Amino acid sequence: MRWHLRNSGLGTGAFLCAASAILALALSWTSLGRQFDNYAYDFLFRLQQPAPWQTSSVILAIDEATMGTYGGNNGIRGALESGLRHISEARPASVAVDIILGDATTEAADSRLEQAFAATPNLVLASYLLRDGTWADPIPRFSRHAAAIGHVHANFDKFDSVYRDAPLMKVGGHTRRWALPLEAFRLATRGEIVESPDDLLISNVRIPSPLHDEYLDGRTLRIRYPPVAMDGIPRISVAQLDANPALAQRFAGKVIFAGVTAQGLGDRWVTPYSNARDMPGIEMNASLYETLAQRRFLVDASWVAVGATCFGFAAAAALAFYFSSGWPANLAALAVVIGSQLLPAFAFSQSVVWAWLPGTLAALLSVTAAAGWRHFIVRQNLDRAEHERTRYQKAMQFVTHEMRTPLTAIQGSSELLGRYAQMPEDKRKQMAELINSESKRLARMIETFLSAERLSAGEMEMKHERFSLPELVDACTTRARAFADRKQIRIELGNLPPRDLIGDRELMEYAVYNLMTNAVKYSPSATVVKVFSEDERGDRVRLSVVDEGIGMDKKEVGRIFEKFYRTKRAEQSGEQGTGIGLSIVEQIVTQHGGVIEVESESGKGSRFTLILKRAK
Ligand code: ADP
Repeated sequence: MRWHLRNSGLGTGAFLCAASAILALALSWTSLGRQFDNYAYDFLFRLQQPAPWQTSSVILAIDEATMGTYGGNNGIRGALESGLRHISEARPASVAVDIILGDATTEAADSRLEQAFAATPNLVLASYLLRDGTWADPIPRFSRHAAAIGHVHANFDKFDSVYRDAPLMKVGGHTRRWALPLEAFRLATRGEIVESPDDLLISNVRIPSPLHDEYLDGRTLRIRYPPVAMDGIPRISVAQLDANPALAQRFAGKVIFAGVTAQGLGDRWVTPYSNARDMPGIEMNASLYETLAQRRFLVDASWVAVGATCFGFAAAAALAFYFSSGWPANLAALAVVIGSQLLPAFAFSQSVVWAWLPGTLAALLSVTAAAGWRHFIVRQNLDRAEHERTRYQKAMQFVTHEMRTPLTAIQGSSELLGRYAQMPEDKRKQMAELINSESKRLARMIETFLSAERLSAGEMEMKHERFSLPELVDACTTRARAFADRKQIRIELGNLPPRDLIGDRELMEYAVYNLMTNAVKYSPSATVVKVFSEDERGDRVRLSVVDEGIGMDKKEVGRIFEKFYRTKRAEQSGEQGTGIGLSIVEQIVTQHGGVIEVESESGKGSRFTLILKRAK
């Protein structure tokens, strides 16, 4: 029974935990769920900052001082031209310009800038995709001198506007553009971009950026912004170069990102470090370049792996509460929850972005579900024990009450006998008989209860004698008929081939008699109870007791062999009972190497069958 309970507990517990895992995954897919994952990402990003490194890029900055010298917004191109001239001597590896050059200004100014571009090898100019799907390219007199045109888009989160990754390519109309930093990297390393579905290969650097949708931002890459300690990518402004041209040497062999850093131009973006500093677009481009150059790629763990660990956490929670309870179970549950927190942190240290929310939710939900279920099962067991106790008490009350009846008769009769010495002979005899039969009944009752206890404790000594089955059935029928007559129930004996059994005749008689009296008890008056036997294969015999009584449903049939269990209908029938009989019958039958089978339908009747070993 205990096994059965535990078993059903595991099934439901496992189901609850699996449902928790699925719910956790589903919730993580919502935009709110993704938001939590982004915050967790930002947290780990700040927590696990890499050690500062020597950058291979330098920013040629048009800062506030430069803007002041060159005449504000209108002077940006002049400042750029001046900056390019300063650094040309230093022979940078490539120069990426993040300034939109989509229209002409004065001929003199454009011509000077064009000359500066012409003198700049490995030049990458910027273009961006307009809402209508066309590219805002530099005017031809500039783009003619560019070794490549790159897009300057990054992806910001719809909800919190943080820039965490950038599309490495973008398609507009029939033109596809690689990201400006990617082009700068390609030119600086003199490589080619080799595409495959899962990554890009440039000069032996494998960039893990799977192609997901060719017509949108097909390949994305998380930007590994330099740690806060580096205070950004080194910057030298045009104004500084003007004041100290020797600074140009700092650009030697580097990849240059030229752009506006002056605040107040609306080009400042928020990064996962946002509380430390926000960032001009040119630095974001330089950061993406550093991600490539340093090969510090952050790769997302697959949803299959994340999903599998969710189920793993759920299974661990289920097992924790299945195999233990109390403190050990709580500690195991705590370990599951801590594990769900350590996993994303460990993965991040290995440059894998492991979604935080699914595992966390799966662990919390399944632990809650498993603990709740455990509590429920314990409760149920307690209730059951409580129920059994009251049933036992009721049975004891009934038993003592039943015993009182013969005791009263014995007491009364013996008193009368003692008091009246001159009692007529026949009266005296009648009373003595009453005392005798009532004390026998009492003895039988006590015997039954003791047998029940001893049988279940396995202390009963069974006799091994040979006896005839039809004779045994006959004896039971004679005893039961007296009882059946009161309800005008006919006990019909069917075919009873002469078969012998081996075992304890008295116990077996108790079992068969019990089935017959039950059949009578739980049948309406004027019905028929049939008793018959058939041979069964393998030296066995089936003895059936069939009634037309109140019957039982499936669930009840499953419980009638429990001690003190009575069906509701039996209780309501007004028939006295203890719910012990069948538990004794079952024990007697199994100790004889037999089996008891029950078929029943409520309202229609029942059939109890004993399958017993025949004597050879
Ligand atoms: P008791 O008859 O003292 O209640 P038993 O252990 O003999 O106890 O039987 C247990 C329960 O099984 C009964 O209370 C009754 O609900 C059910 N039962 C037994 N035999 C029958 C039957 N022939 N038809 C319907 N219900 C039965």
